[in-house]
Amino acid sequence: MQPDKIIDCAIIGGGPAGLSSALVLGRSRRNVLLFDDATNRNQVTHESHGFLTRDGTTPSELRRLGREDVSAYPSVTIVDQKVSSITPAKDDSFFTFTTTDDQTYYAKKLILAVGFKESLPSIEGIHHFYGKSVFNCPYCDGWELRDQPLIIINDTEHASHMAKVLYNWSKDLVLATNGSEFKIEPDVRQRLEAKGIRINTKKIVQLSGENGQLSSVTFEDGTKLHRSGGFVAPTFIFNPLREQMNFELTEHGALIIDDFGRTSIKHIYAAGDAISPAYSQLIVSAASGHKAGIGVNSDLTEELFV
Ligand SMILES: Cc1cc2nc3c(=O)[nH]c(=O)nc-3n(C[C@H](O)[C@H](O)[C@H](O)COP(=O)(O)OP(=O)(O)OC[C@H]3O[C@@H](n4cnc5c(N)ncnc54)[C@H](O)[C@@H]3O)c2cc1C
Repeated sequence: MQPDKIIDCAIIGGGPAGLSSALVLGRSRRNVLLFDDATNRNQVTHESHGFLTRDGTTPSELRRLGREDVSAYPSVTIVDQKVSSITPAKDDSFFTFTTTDDQTYYAKKLILAVGFKESLPSIEGIHHFYGKSVFNCPYCDGWELRDQPLIIINDTEHASHMAKVLYNWSKDLVLATNGSEFKIEPDVRQRLEAKGIRINTKKIVQLSGENGQLSSVTFEDGTKLHRSGGFVAPTFIFNPLREQMNFELTEHGALIIDDFGRTSIKHIYAAGDAISPAYSQLIVSAASGHKAGIGVNSDLTEELFV
C-alpha cells in the first residue's frame, strides 16, 4: 500500500552538500525534507577557509547562513533528527525513512549527503589540538600555519606528497611516521632531506600545549621537539547509511556517480564528502550538492512525461 504523503526528495545531511541540494530543489518547487543530526566533523575547528565570500567564517555560521537561505523556500523542511533506517519499497517507487525519535517519512528520491568521520592516530592530546593548530588539509589551513615549525604526522604512502605540498607554506618541517616504517623510496627521502625536511620514525607519545595551541611533541625515547602546528593523516570512516547500501565503488572506495550525483542505485544520489574524501572541501561539497539537486529535479521532471 502506498503511504498518503510521499515527498519528492529526502536529503540526509545538512552540511554544505545537503544544504546546496535543498536550495536548488526548493527553488525548483520540490517538496524536500532535509535531515540533520549536527554531527559534522568540522565543528572542532574555529574557522573555515576557502569558501568564496565566507573565507574565515566559523562552520556553525556557514550552516546558519545556509539554513537561512533554504528557509526562504516553503517547500523545504529541515528535520533536526538522525535518520536511523532507509528502506526501499518493493517496487522501488519510494523510500521509507525512520528517525531516532520514531517518526516515519516517505520520499521518491534520496540524496545522501552524510559526510564521513575520521579517526586520528592514538596519540595522547591529539584531540585537544585537532582543528585548532593541527589539521588534515593544507589547502584549508596551510595559510594560517605559514612559516611556523610544523610536524606532519603521516605514515601512509602519501606522506612525502604531504611534506612536499606543505613545503610551500613552511620550510621548518618534520615528517613523523609515528613508529611506522617510512614507506617511500630512498631517493624520494633524499630529495626531502636535501630541502631540509627532517624525517622521524619514532613513536609519538604526546602532543602538548595550551588552549588548543600545540607547543611540543614528545617521542617514545623522551626527546621533545618544539612545534607550533601540524598536519595529520586521519583514517576515514564512512557513514553507516552509506556502508549499508550496496553501492558500486571505485577501486579507492569512492561512490561511482555520474555528473549529477546519480549513484549505481536507482533514485539515490550522493553529494559531498559522502562520495569520497577527495570532495573534502566545503566549496566542492556544496557544488556537488547543487549538481545532485539538479539531477533529482531533472529525473522527477522526466518521470512526469513518460
Ligand atoms: C578540522 C577540519 C577543518 C576543516 N577546514 C576546512 C576548511 O577550512 N575549508 C574547507 O573547504 N573544508 C574544510 N574542512 C572539510 C569540510 O568540513 C568538509 O569537506 C565539508 O564539511 C563536507 O561537507 P558535507 O556536506 O559533505 O558533509 P558535512 O559537513 O560533514 O555534513 C554532513 C552532515 O550529515 C549529517 N548526518 C550524518 N549522518 C546523518 C544521519 N544518519 N541522519 C541525519 N543527519 C546525518 C551530519 O550531522 C552532518 O551535519 C575541514 C574539515 C575538518 C575536519
